[in-house]
Amino acid sequence: MKSNKELIDKLHISHSLTHEEWTALLSTYNEEDRLYAADRARAVTDEIYGKDVFIRGIVEFSNTCNKNCYYCGLRAGNTKLERYRLSIDDIMDCCKDGYEFGFRTFVLQSGEDPYYTTEMICELVKRIKKEFPDCAVTLSIGEKSYEDYKAFKDAGADRYLLRHETANEEHYGKLHPENMSWANRMRCLNDLKSLGFQTGCGVMIGSPEQTIDCLADDMLYMEKLKPEMIGLGPFLPHSDTPFRDKPKGSYEMTLFMISLCRLMLPHALIPATTALGTIKPDGREQGILAGANVIMPNLSPVRVRDKYMLYDNKICTGDASSGCRACIEARVQSVGYNVAITRGDYK
Ligand code: SAH
Ligand code: SF4
Repeated sequence: MKSNKELIDKLHISHSLTHEEWTALLSTYNEEDRLYAADRARAVTDEIYGKDVFIRGIVEFSNTCNKNCYYCGLRAGNTKLERYRLSIDDIMDCCKDGYEFGFRTFVLQSGEDPYYTTEMICELVKRIKKEFPDCAVTLSIGEKSYEDYKAFKDAGADRYLLRHETANEEHYGKLHPENMSWANRMRCLNDLKSLGFQTGCGVMIGSPEQTIDCLADDMLYMEKLKPEMIGLGPFLPHSDTPFRDKPKGSYEMTLFMISLCRLMLPHALIPATTALGTIKPDGREQGILAGANVIMPNLSPVRVRDKYMLYDNKICTGDASSGCRACIEARVQSVGYNVAITRGDYK
């Protein structure tokens, strides 16, 4: 039987553990193991990406969603939420502001909102790429057909974020209603990869009914998919969802998972997520120290920010984009890193 430190060393060197080793490590690690992994993960990140932390300006352009994920405040069944949609011109204005603040990646995220047709999204991507040719465009607009993804790629989109949420099919069924399928989620991620997107998957740590076995499945899934980006944040309950009374995920476990993902996929772009900053005031700084190398400040107009509530108490809903940019710079510098004015592609 290997000790946890030996397992972390093995992961560091061979970038792989067996299912049994994953469950052993994840069910028995202590604070010392977590910090041991964080040190190694940070050193690996420094070797590849140096002291740079990449920023992405996220434009949450619609909070309208026709899906009903049990965990999410934007779910169609949440009738308390006031819905909004930004026009293409509104979105372009956010990008213009963002460009001035030094953003060279724009992430366009929304609920699954059929109001924005494939043609509209393609037009938007083309406009951004034309106006800001030195910028990358990331889409995060949910499950689409292969043909739609291909159209987005042909229009110039560079990256796509679609968290797999869980690699365990049974667990997926506990987080989503019956009309959503795990198989389709997997199909989407395979399509995105095959189309040449820098592809991001990821999970919420501590989502309801998640077991150590599920997390081990997630690690093995990601080892196989080799995503260029990995989004990890704690599950946080939202009061107008079926999961309102479920406990939030573990902050420490989220940091540990960031480090383990870094050791498994050394080149991955891993954000210190807003959810991590929501669960702990310096969560994002600690995420960087655990091996994350991306931060995604909000570029949405302030008037809609508090309506994009995936979970309760989401941070950064008050500041204008300029304030967010300064705040992020200070946070990143406080732990010894620099905000890089670059696209920040996968190396
Ligand atoms: N509709 C798109 C993008 C918006 S949701 C999609 O589903 O892909 C973006 C991510 O927010 C989700 O993938 C989910 O992992 C995360 N999220 C949603 N509700 C959350 C909650 N209650 N706590 C933490 N993260 C949540
Ligand atoms: Fe909609 Fe995405 Fe929220 Fe699911 S996670 S309800 S698809 S916004």
